[in-house]
Order: sequence, then C-alpha cells, then structure tokens
Amino acid sequence: MRWVNWGKVTRLKEVGGLGLQTAKGRNTALLAKLNWRLHTEGDALWARVLKAKYGTRQRTEARNKSSLPCSTTWRGIMKGEEVFKKGVKWIPDFESNLSFWFDCWTNLGPLRQVIHGPLTRESSHLRIRGVITPYGWDWSVIPFDLPTELKAEIQAIPTPIVARGGDKLAWSHSPRGSFSLSSTYSLAIEVPNEESFSGRWIWKLNAFPTIQNFVWKCMHNSIGVKECLVKRVVTQDPICPLCQVERESIIHALRDCERIKLIWVQLKFQTTNQVFFTQNTREWLVTNCN
Ligand SMILES: [Zn+2]
Repeated sequence: MRWVNWGKVTRLKEVGGLGLQTAKGRNTALLAKLNWRLHTEGDALWARVLKAKYGTRQRTEARNKSSLPCSTTWRGIMKGEEVFKKGVKWIPDFESNLSFWFDCWTNLGPLRQVIHGPLTRESSHLRIRGVITPYGWDWSVIPFDLPTELKAEIQAIPTPIVARGGDKLAWSHSPRGSFSLSSTYSLAIEVPNEESFSGRWIWKLNAFPTIQNFVWKCMHNSIGVKECLVKRVVTQDPICPLCQVERESIIHALRDCERIKLIWVQLKFQTTNQVFFTQNTREWLVTNCN
C-alpha cells in the first residue's frame, strides 16, 4: 500500500515532504531558466533570433498570443514565463526604460497590483526614468498620491544617480540575485498550505533512515494502525488489538494504550516532560525525538 500520497512526498522538506522532485515541476523550472537566459544573454545569436521573430510588439500585444504558431522552443519559453515572472526582479538603472507600474522592480511585485483604481492612459505608460531624478523620486509626475508605505518601499530601493549600462535582472529568491534552479523548482510546484509541517528536523535526527522514515510517516498520519486502515477502507474495526478497548490511533499505539503506557511510566519520561501524556501526535514526536 502507498501510505503517503505523491503530492505530499514531493513537497519540500521544509513543509513536510521528502523533497523528491516531480518531473513536471523540474521541467517548468528549466523552462523558466530558459526565460532567464533569454533576458540575460540577450546578445547571443539564439536570443536575438527568437526575440526578432517572436518578441515583436504585434505578437506580444496580440490577444490570442498563446495560440499563434511558433517554434517548440518559443512555446517552451512561454510555458516557463509565469514562473520566471514570479521569481524575477529588475534592478533599475538611472535611465531605466522599465514600466513604473507593470514591471517587477520592488519587493511588492509590479506596482499596478498594489494600486487600486484606474490609471490614465498617459500615466500607464510611465517609465521609471520619468520619476527618478538625481535628487530622489519626483512624485509630482504621478497624478495621485501614493500611499506612504509604498513611497517608503520605493525610497528604500538603491538607485544609481548616473546611467550604468541598463536595467539588470536579479533572481529575487537567491541572496546574490543569480538564478537558482532549486528555488525556481519550489516556485514551479504549488506548495499546499493544508496539513503541512516543518519536517527538516526529521532528517537531522541521529537515527537510522528507517526510523526517520517511520517518524515522517507518523507525522503524516500514515502508519498501519487500525484508525489509518479504517480511513483507507482496509478494515472496519478501529479497536486496538492489544487493549481491546480504545481506538488504535497512532498516538494510542505509540503512547496511550494501557499496555504501552506502563513502559513509558517505568522510563519516567513524564518527570522531565509534564505534558508527555497530553501532547498531540505531532507535538509529542517533535518534543520527544529532538
Ligand atoms: Zn490499546
């Protein structure tokens, strides 16, 4: 029986998975990398050819962009674009040609997503170089008042006061701003919020891998005790075979069954940890394995 489903196994270790990578997630991460290369190796022949062929205004502004005929490479680039955009940030130059509203150059993502209400046509074409001056930001060119927090966020961004050869790309998920495939992979897979837990400690335990694996399965409520078997419709009887009284949950089998409890009492665990017998399964494992 597969005790823990694939979706949980492929989560990152930080959120309780085994950190196995899915082929799909890895593929998307590689396609995002292709986007990164297209932007950072802009002078390379392959990048120039692709941009000249598919990066035309006519194409990028077309409504049916994704259904226009193109090469498999370009199709791949389009597939990786979403993840690429999630992870990338621009470092604007003094003469920056970047869009003030629509490019991602702050920690908040594209500013258009933070601002509510409509933008005038003129204002929507605003470039960063139109707002930046050698003396700081010129807010007067924006036809409405930006929220104070937003201004503070923008003012905290280091900006050059002279041109330094164009806007630079940075990968926002790595400390040095260079592209990293592992962080891209975590952007490419959806990290589910439900039932996740920090599981990195399990793999640091000074124990055999089989024990680590056992603890990990317990944390996922996926051990062959009666309660888990009932949930998987393998049996209908949830009663503990040892005491024949209570339901056999994981914590019952490990701690609460009267036959088992005696052993713990003899080992005097509750004298050092007063909540030893009242913690739930996960808390109990975290406290007592570490
Ligand atoms: Zn029992």
